[in-house]
Amino acid sequence: MTAAKAYAATSATTPLTPFQLERRAVGPHDVQIEIAFCGICHSDLHQVRNEWGNSTYPMVPGHEIVGKVTAVGAHVKNFNVGDLAGVGCLVDSCRTCASCKRDLEQFCEKGAAFTYNGSEMDRKTITQGGYSSSIVTDEAFCLKISPKLDLAAAAPLLCAGITTYSPLRHWNTKKGDKVGVVGLGGLGHMAVKLAAAMGAEVTMLSTSKSKEADARKLGAHHFGLTSDEGTFKKLAGQFDLIIDTISAPHDYNKYLGLLRVEGTMVLLGVPPEPTLVSAFPLIMGRRSLSGSLIGGIKETQEMLDFCAEHNIVSEIELIPVQQVNLAYERMMKNDVRYRFVLDMKTL
Ligand code: NAP
Ligand code: ZN
Ligand code: ZN
Repeated sequence: MTAAKAYAATSATTPLTPFQLERRAVGPHDVQIEIAFCGICHSDLHQVRNEWGNSTYPMVPGHEIVGKVTAVGAHVKNFNVGDLAGVGCLVDSCRTCASCKRDLEQFCEKGAAFTYNGSEMDRKTITQGGYSSSIVTDEAFCLKISPKLDLAAAAPLLCAGITTYSPLRHWNTKKGDKVGVVGLGGLGHMAVKLAAAMGAEVTMLSTSKSKEADARKLGAHHFGLTSDEGTFKKLAGQFDLIIDTISAPHDYNKYLGLLRVEGTMVLLGVPPEPTLVSAFPLIMGRRSLSGSLIGGIKETQEMLDFCAEHNIVSEIELIPVQQVNLAYERMMKNDVRYRFVLDMKTL
């Protein structure tokens, strides 16, 4: 066992505070990572505040983890001490079910081991995430990070990157496709960059007029202000794919009307409360409403390699770990451009 420093939530209503935890001894297939940076995902905030009703405490959040390998187990093949490595939202899965065999560990039929607010596959050992000085993870769930990428700005690729890359690939986004991205936050800005890199014609659909110039800089070709009803009339029936990243309740029906015949809207955001969906916008044009959860390990590596090739990283605000509670407050106020990343050497 190794002692690690961390920041943890001890209840849904109190600020995160310094915390000590024990990481397991490095097993034969394990990689020990000294965490350099960890991104702050809106899912951290949902879970810290128990907005999904499944939280256990104490909870060390964080699933956008990057750092340097400091030890490897005897049977580790793909990582050496000194390598850069990342850990995303998954730390294990059963590896034998139909989903795992299809490289969709996130949908493991036994229930994957999520990086925090979950348990290892033994269902006893609580997992603790990346707002921490180190982590020990089976190499099968560790990712290679190219030294070409800025390491701090690469951290958000481990969740925001793969969560937006996976649906773009699944719905076969290609040159000329019209893609709408709803919500310009951590996920949304990665969706814009990745869809543009895949050759799509990207429209940013945002409640924030002040983000228009940024959206265009990130690669969006068009901008639609969603607080203006005229936008929904103007853009009706246009999009092949809509990627919805909004973290709060909102009316899906309005956005479904923006899809072309047989277009698909994919929900990535997880608002705490359900939303009513009418049959009309779906039957009028055989449209689909779907959802997507992060991505499997193989696809996460593919995304990281794609980002290294296209020089894509996140736009970040690097902050000391002591400012994590302030960052949460700012996220609630929609004041983030476009991902907070914790600098772990400040721990
Ligand atoms: P974020 O950085 O806080 O961005 C969310 C964006 O949604 C905001 O920037 C804002 O964009 C828009 N928004 C916020 N409140 C809104 C409201 N009341 N009405 C309309 N728009 C609003 O969050 P994030 O880290 O990107 O995460 C977004 C969501 O995805 C969260 O629910 C998170 O839990 C979820 N998530 C899901 C997965 C998955 O695997 N499916 C993975 C990671 C995260 P504008 O200012 O442009 O309107
Ligand atoms: Zn996340
Ligand atoms: Zn499985």
